[in-house]
Amino acid sequence: MEVIVAKSAGFCFGVERAVKSAYDEAGRENEKIYTYGPIIHNEQVTNDLAKKGVNIINSLEELESLDSGTVIMRAHGVSKSVYDKISKNVKVVDATCPFVSKIHRIVNEESSKGKHIIIIGNDGHPEVEGIKGWAVGKTFVISSEQDALEFADEMGASLCIVSQTTFNVKKFHKLVEIIEKKGYNSSVVNTICDATSKRQAEAGQLASRVDAMIVVGGVHSSNTQKLYEICKNECSKTYLIQTVDDLQDFMLAGCNVVGITAGASTPNNITEEVQNYVRRKF
Ligand code: SF4
Repeated sequence: MEVIVAKSAGFCFGVERAVKSAYDEAGRENEKIYTYGPIIHNEQVTNDLAKKGVNIINSLEELESLDSGTVIMRAHGVSKSVYDKISKNVKVVDATCPFVSKIHRIVNEESSKGKHIIIIGNDGHPEVEGIKGWAVGKTFVISSEQDALEFADEMGASLCIVSQTTFNVKKFHKLVEIIEKKGYNSSVVNTICDATSKRQAEAGQLASRVDAMIVVGGVHSSNTQKLYEICKNECSKTYLIQTVDDLQDFMLAGCNVVGITAGASTPNNITEEVQNYVRRKF
């Protein structure tokens, strides 16, 4: 069996940077270290960090109750109000990905000019919640064609449309097209990050020429889910697995060529284990 691993599989620059910040801080003695939410959607990494004394804070209440220590902001970023709250009581290590910080700046500036903000993304996702929180006026989140078709704002409203960094590129353009037809005065900034665009394009191309496609990543990871959608569109035998243990023999039975890609928060060793298993077994 031929096994092809996507070159862009695995940690992106932003996740790598955030995980490095957590490990750097973990080395500091006599200091309580926290991350606001898991630093990445990967239990192996978060468990390892926990052993090194880096604990996860899951709620704003917990965060507000801290009076000392260091809080690491993960790559997804947070809203301005959360940022301000955290930095009042504790030291902040800001590992917000620069691509996400750029969206915060755009949203803040454009909404300050009176524009309403449309975020093409998944409502409730921490990155989207963070982006919303940098706008000073109205925000809307649009994730589907249905949402875009139903979208309506007040007459004469000016809009600024941005995207969640990991959104599906093709879908973003489709949704923008639907919104633009409504005739509002709108400016569009494609803020899907470069790492995501490349990973998605490569995954789609690979999926179109293999018999089965394996996407390795966390089930709660948004960018992994998007990769799965893209690959599934091209290859009906696409499987999303978290580790090699989820791989079952029937998935690859009768296949000659298998493709493998992985989400931005999947450590390389997990992808390597999958790759080695497939090569050994088939
Ligand atoms: Fe940054 Fe893109 Fe990685 Fe998100 S996917 S952390 S925006 S590089």
